[in-house]
Amino acid sequence: MADDLIIAGEVIRPGQTKVVDVPLPDLYMHTALSMPVQVIRGRRKGPILFVSGAVHGDEIVGVEIIRRLIRSKRLKGLAGTLITIPVVNVYGFINQTRYLPDRRDLNRCFPGSEEGSLAARLANLFMTEVVQKCTHGIDLHTAAIHRDNLPQIRAALDNGAVEEMARAFNAPVIVNSGLIEGSLRFACQQAGVPVIVYEAGEALRFNELAIRAGVRGVLAVMRKIGMLAPSRTKQLKPLEPFVARSSTWVRAPQSGIFRMLMPMGAHVKKGDCLGMVAAPYGDEKSETQVLASCSGVIIGRTNIPLVNEGEALFHIARFNRPDEVADSVEAFNMVLDPATDTGVPEEQPII
Ligand SMILES: [Zn+2]
Repeated sequence: MADDLIIAGEVIRPGQTKVVDVPLPDLYMHTALSMPVQVIRGRRKGPILFVSGAVHGDEIVGVEIIRRLIRSKRLKGLAGTLITIPVVNVYGFINQTRYLPDRRDLNRCFPGSEEGSLAARLANLFMTEVVQKCTHGIDLHTAAIHRDNLPQIRAALDNGAVEEMARAFNAPVIVNSGLIEGSLRFACQQAGVPVIVYEAGEALRFNELAIRAGVRGVLAVMRKIGMLAPSRTKQLKPLEPFVARSSTWVRAPQSGIFRMLMPMGAHVKKGDCLGMVAAPYGDEKSETQVLASCSGVIIGRTNIPLVNEGEALFHIARFNRPDEVADSVEAFNMVLDPATDTGVPEEQPII
């Protein structure tokens, strides 16, 4: 049947929901391994959207976003197909690391190849079994280990379909970022599948706000592209996401113990003191200020107060109206705070 969707040899028909275990190369003790792919097909035709988590094996916020998403009552009446892959890099996930056992970064190995490295084979499998069957995609990430990201969308806005998804997701900030060769986003663009990346929170930790914003964002994109009917429940006042003009990292001027003095989402001006780096024994002369190299809004920070010279400490995004962005971030935090939010009572918040 033309309407049949086939993943790893399994047929999924309109109206069906199925978990397909896509076989992967075994672990070295010969334990069989697979990548579970959940497929939810509506009865009506519509877009085919993939939502992927843990392409970097330690970035687990997306795993929880997907768990909540597929349990959501809001998927009733789905048009088209939702394909969710909570853990793409199964090897990294088991080892609680970003990388594969061959030390490669999966997100630099797309589109991969059948005969290549382990990373290339996994990338190729994901492209052929998932991406090539889809019309749209959302890839869920967090900051790398010991870093935190303000919820943000990364997308190449020169593509109209990508821009539509990026804006619909409604994260407070969009970073118009170029495509890195080898990334999933790059390979999807080559394959003609519009994809956005959601970046929020940190590796190996849950963050309730990042999770909630993620679930809402995916549902909002699904409504925008016609997979779900417009919500009938009272909508939050839509926040207009702000698009960053560019972004830059502020790096440690010297090695030492680092005290951060600016929170995530803060509006900073060029030359502002963002923190101090000092020697551990408290010699005042050893203290060095960390100064903002440009004006903008803090969209990423380190979490570890032990720094080496040159390490990235703050990620600052430049905006035309940074004060309005900072206000918008504050409103976003309020709206999604589990203590004040009454919009989505489906899940008990992780505290
Ligand atoms: Zn990542």
